[in-house]
Amino acid sequence: MSRIFRQLLFVVCLSVLVFAQDFRKPQNIILLIGDGMGLNYVAANVLQDADSPFRDFKTIGLSITKTIDSLITDSAQGATTIATGYRTRKTFIAVDTSLQPLYSIFEQSKKLGLSTGVVVTDEISGATPMAFLVHDPSRYNKEKMIEKLLDSKVDIIIGGGKKYFLPDNDGGIRPDKRNIISELRTKGYKFYFSFDDLPEVEAYNKFYGILSDSGLPKASERNYSLGQLTDTALKQLSNNSIGFVLMVEGSQIDWAGHNNDAGYALSELKDFATAISSALRFAEKDGNTLVLVTADHETGGLAITAGNYDGSNMIIKFVDNHHTGGFVPVFAKGPGEELFNGIYGNYMIGRKIFKLLDPTHRFNQSDYLTR
Ligand SMILES: [Zn+2]
Repeated sequence: MSRIFRQLLFVVCLSVLVFAQDFRKPQNIILLIGDGMGLNYVAANVLQDADSPFRDFKTIGLSITKTIDSLITDSAQGATTIATGYRTRKTFIAVDTSLQPLYSIFEQSKKLGLSTGVVVTDEISGATPMAFLVHDPSRYNKEKMIEKLLDSKVDIIIGGGKKYFLPDNDGGIRPDKRNIISELRTKGYKFYFSFDDLPEVEAYNKFYGILSDSGLPKASERNYSLGQLTDTALKQLSNNSIGFVLMVEGSQIDWAGHNNDAGYALSELKDFATAISSALRFAEKDGNTLVLVTADHETGGLAITAGNYDGSNMIIKFVDNHHTGGFVPVFAKGPGEELFNGIYGNYMIGRKIFKLLDPTHRFNQSDYLTR
């Protein structure tokens, strides 16, 4: 082989390597999860609101929400697939079928120097946030999982569920008498207990906003929106020039589905939409942020059966009180959005996020790759 030919071959190979990366890499990722938000939930929001932020997305995928051994999932397994890129069993929080920890996108983010944050309308001990923050064999070990936050390097958490942090003789329900709030303070976290107290502009980069004893009040019964909580988190997380990953959950969309309560579902969707708008506003200004909106599963089999042409007075019916196996959507906007078109298993959402964080990250256990 002549020297010139070898040099030419080298240049060709190098070009292939450089251009093989078929996506743009974002600096920041905002992942919004509407718990229980199947396709018809999105339809209801879009039909009802001409300015629905769902209308702003051009890249849309469909996620198959199975577990490793069941057609229908729960939120623990559903969030685990997104947080780790692996399917597992129901009730498992970021552990595999041998109960070994599954490495999460939050852990990877920290390794890369990014900040991480969680904003939910559920208790912080809820299955969705916990799958991003800790590892545990059961979503019901709430006190235990809250203890494990002491080992989490997360920067910002906003949500409810104060009672799991405090001893039973001090306003909480912990039988072990530990005060996890005091213990977290020694790790450098600041605490805020009402919306009005949350930091506005001032940068305090590690904090918990625990705004209620259990889950947050329904959107219709509180004087702040999930969008405002998202704004607060974004202001602080964006202080990190390396980047951040923020997970926001519209937790109570699922609760409305379980209750077959159409009005509750619509108002929680509207509240979730404020968070999507907040994320899109930030991303547009920033120019280097990927916004992803998805769900862990569908709840209740929601259907729109009648209503006015303008979307007012919709009649909404449910076929069930439980989760269903319907498609959930994946909306993507920003650098890397091109990865999210198509139909794929829920675990692929996690894998695509890993790919965006670190293109060299590899997955094993290919037996988890069931469609
Ligand atoms: Zn549910």
